[in-house]
Amino acid sequence: MTDNAPKNSLTLLGLGDMGTALARTWLAAGHRLTVWNRTAAKAAAPAAEGAVVAASPAEAVAANGLVVICLLDDATVGSALDGVDLTGKDLVNLTTGTPAEGRARAAWAEERGARFVDGGIMATPTMIGVPEAGGYVFYSGSRALFDTHRATLEVPAGARFVGEDPGHAALHDVALLSAMYGMFAGISHAYALIEGEDIAPKDLAPLLSEWLGAMGFFVGNAAERLTSRDFTTGVVSSLAMQTAASGTLLRTAEQQGVSAELISPYLDLMRRRLTADPAAHGGEDTAGAITLLKR
Ligand code: NDP
Repeated sequence: MTDNAPKNSLTLLGLGDMGTALARTWLAAGHRLTVWNRTAAKAAAPAAEGAVVAASPAEAVAANGLVVICLLDDATVGSALDGVDLTGKDLVNLTTGTPAEGRARAAWAEERGARFVDGGIMATPTMIGVPEAGGYVFYSGSRALFDTHRATLEVPAGARFVGEDPGHAALHDVALLSAMYGMFAGISHAYALIEGEDIAPKDLAPLLSEWLGAMGFFVGNAAERLTSRDFTTGVVSSLAMQTAASGTLLRTAEQQGVSAELISPYLDLMRRRLTADPAAHGGEDTAGAITLLKR
C-alpha cells in the first residue's frame, strides 16, 4: 500500500447482495469503509452503519490503498474502473469470472501500477460474516498483497490462497461449482423418479444425503488415481459392471416417465471409455473416464 490510510481502512465497489453483506461485516468489525455503487440508494444502509459514500469509482478508489471490487461481472469491473488512477493501489477482485478473465484483469491492473488478487467467493450473502456457516473465498495472484491484507480479507469469510497464478482462484471456484451442479443434477433425477409414487420426498431425503456422503469417497479416490494413472488396482466396482448396470437406471427412468437427460451424459461417458477398449478398461474404476474429457 502506498497511502497513509490505517491498515483497517478500505474501499468497496459494488453494493449488490454480496457487496452489501461484505460491507456490513467490515463495518461491524470496526473497519473504516468507503463504498461506491452505481445505484446510490443502496449505499444508504452501509452509510447508516458508518460507511463513507463516494460519488464515483474514482473518488472511492482515491480514498484507500486497498480496493475490493464486487460487481456483477468482469465487463462491469472494466467499465467502472475505466480511466480511474490505480497507481499504487491494491485491488482485490471478488467479482465472479473465468480464469482467463482473472489473468487478463491482473495484467490490466499491473499495467496501471496496481497489485492484484482475484477472488472466488464460496459462500452466499447470508454466509458472509457467519464463521460457523463455513463460507470462504479462494484468492490467487499477488502473494504480497494477500499477506499484507490477510486480516482484513478474513473478516467476511475464510481466506484460502491458492497460488500466484491470478486465474487459479476462479479455476478453483468453477471446479467446485461444477461439481455442485453435477450433484444437483443427480439429486434432481432421484426426486423425479419417486414423483407420483407413495414415497415422500422428505423420506427419501435422509437416505439420499447419507448415500451421497458415503459416495464422497470418490473425490479422494479419483485424485489418487489421476495422480498415479493407475485406474485398475483395488477396483471393486468395475467400469464393465457399472456400464452393464446403467441399463437398469435408464430403463427405470423410462418406466417412471422421467427424462434421463441429467444422468445419461455421465453414463454415456462410462460407456465410451469401456467400448474404446473393453479388455483394457473393463476392470477400471470410473475415474478412468475423466481422461476422456480433456479436449
Ligand atoms: P447483484 O446482482 O446483487 O449486484 C450486482 C452489482 O453489480 C451491483 O452493485 C450492481 O449495481 C453492479 N452493476 C451491475 N451492472 C453494473 C454496471 N453496468 N455498472 C456498474 N455497476 C453495475 O450481485 P451480487 O452482489 O450477488 O454478486 C456480485 C458478485 O459476487 C458477482 O460476480 C457474483 O457472481 C458474485 N457472487 C455472488 C454470490 C451470491 O450468492 N450472491 C455468491 C458468490 C459470488 P446496481 O446496484 O447499480 O445494480
